[in-house]
Amino acid sequence: MRIVLLGAPGSGKGTQAQRLAERTGIPQISTGDLLRAAVARGTELGIKAKAAMDEGRLVDDALVLGMIRERLAEPDTRAGFILDGFPRNLVQAAALDGLLAELKQPLDAVVQFEVDRAELVKRISGRRTCADCACVFNVLTSPPTGAAAICPRTGAPHRLIQRADDNEATVAERLRVYEEKTRPLIAFYQSRGLLRAIDAEGQVDAVTERLGVALGLAPRPAAAARKGAAAKRPPRRKPARPARRRRPAARAEKRRPAPKKVPARAARKKRAGGPRTRKPPARRRARR
Ligand SMILES: [Zn+2]
Repeated sequence: MRIVLLGAPGSGKGTQAQRLAERTGIPQISTGDLLRAAVARGTELGIKAKAAMDEGRLVDDALVLGMIRERLAEPDTRAGFILDGFPRNLVQAAALDGLLAELKQPLDAVVQFEVDRAELVKRISGRRTCADCACVFNVLTSPPTGAAAICPRTGAPHRLIQRADDNEATVAERLRVYEEKTRPLIAFYQSRGLLRAIDAEGQVDAVTERLGVALGLAPRPAAAARKGAAAKRPPRRKPARPARRRRPAARAEKRRPAPKKVPARAARKKRAGGPRTRKPPARRRARR
């Protein structure tokens, strides 16, 4: 599955990309992470990127595409990739198209995250990251409370910091850039029949579900377990004769975690009600 997640800053695509990667085992490719990793490893592209950033220049499209090319050469991308934060403009989109055509790995879908502008502003300006564990919170919509307020790295409360470009003054500018540069990608991918729009407002879990549906994924493990429990009941009733005796014991085991009591009770029941429980099947067989 090769997909691009498209959305304004604050639309939650990074969070969903991470969840999708965990769920599918397909790597999330974030250009921000790639840049940081390349700089940290001191690769040729990393050195160039660092020079650009140190001089306060934007890292140019060719450099970013070069990093994506390198990343897509790694074996874990054979099953696919989730691009998050790239492409950001038509030039990058066209370049990505060319690269993927060359690699014979065309995109399967582009998911557009739809979020109201007022909600975006709230999400971005409230966003805080823990300086120690990198967990992301929102002091306006999901402040860290209770056990979640304690940093798993330090055991003390998270040290929340605001990203320099997450303040309200720059939010408007980032959204303007998105509207001008990135929004045209919606039409670009729509014309290629790849676009799937989802409502990305509301609970994170609900958005995860919508994303799964948009991509035609099987229900998530949690949802599958719930459905599976319900789905298991009818088959248990169906195989009438062999399952009949075992069923009460199996149920008792589930209700009572203490395993020692179950055989004792079952044994007592057998002794006391044995003949009675044996009769109905016999009568049924006789009728047939
Ligand atoms: Zn923390």
